[in-house]
Amino acid sequence: MSPKDRRAAKILQDSLLIDDQAIGHVINAKGYQWATVQKDDRPAVRALVPIEFAQSEELRIEASMYNGVLMKFADLQQTEADFLEFANEFGPLGLRERIEILLFPEGRKAEAETWGAWTDAHNQIRTALRFASAVRQSTGDQWVREIKGQWVAFDPEDDKRIGRRRCSVTNERHAAEKLSAWTINDGLLGHTGVLLLSQKRGGYALRGVPTTLLGRMWWQLARLLCGEANYSKCKVCGAPLEIGEDGFMTTKEFCSAACRQKDHRNKVKEAKRLRDNGLSINKIAKQLSTTPAAIQHWLTKTK
Ligand SMILES: [Zn+2]
Repeated sequence: MSPKDRRAAKILQDSLLIDDQAIGHVINAKGYQWATVQKDDRPAVRALVPIEFAQSEELRIEASMYNGVLMKFADLQQTEADFLEFANEFGPLGLRERIEILLFPEGRKAEAETWGAWTDAHNQIRTALRFASAVRQSTGDQWVREIKGQWVAFDPEDDKRIGRRRCSVTNERHAAEKLSAWTINDGLLGHTGVLLLSQKRGGYALRGVPTTLLGRMWWQLARLLCGEANYSKCKVCGAPLEIGEDGFMTTKEFCSAACRQKDHRNKVKEAKRLRDNGLSINKIAKQLSTTPAAIQHWLTKTK
């Protein structure tokens, strides 16, 4: 075992959460829609509700499908269309502030998440992500000021206050780190929990898990701040990918099997183009970062 592998194995062992043991989420197979809903005599609001279903149809989404979901959410425009597309793929956020509605036509109860709560969550995640990224890139000092013995965090973009804390650190960099961590802790609270989960090698272990979709995003943000994870983009479609430093996905380049195949087809095409231009097998291999044997194999394929 190399030192790197040993380190990865150790982190895996110590990790509070092992991704493939994380719980998935259940979403409505028919999808969601924005509707105007009213509860008691409160004013009507726009809310995301499950599309009516003939019978309860639920779709279980595995934890592994949520790789990079934080970045996907943060990249959304604040429009009903963008939020809806996201919800149809990943489900509702699992907000605490939700209202109960009756589903048409069978009068089944369902929970609706309001537009206001979605935009609040989106703003918080986006700000916290920019804050954590600044801390990671050592520009966190632009986010904090000391005011009357307390450290206060401000968004440098609009100078809006995002949190404050009395703490004994003496410089901006440490204060930013602390305040960024507390912002994330606020997000994790109520959206994460502790469960006994069965282990692959037998027995049970106590694990921290995100309990809602929003909690999963705060979790990914926490991993980003503490350096357990980093983000890169799929080489083919540009979708965000979480790259763990814990030996899981350190070599992950593609978001899906489809993108991996597409990349391969592109390379084969490129190899054929280069051969038609008169390049030698060795030169083609060098240009496409692979071996001459692989190029030879690609070029003999009929398709
Ligand atoms: Zn992709």
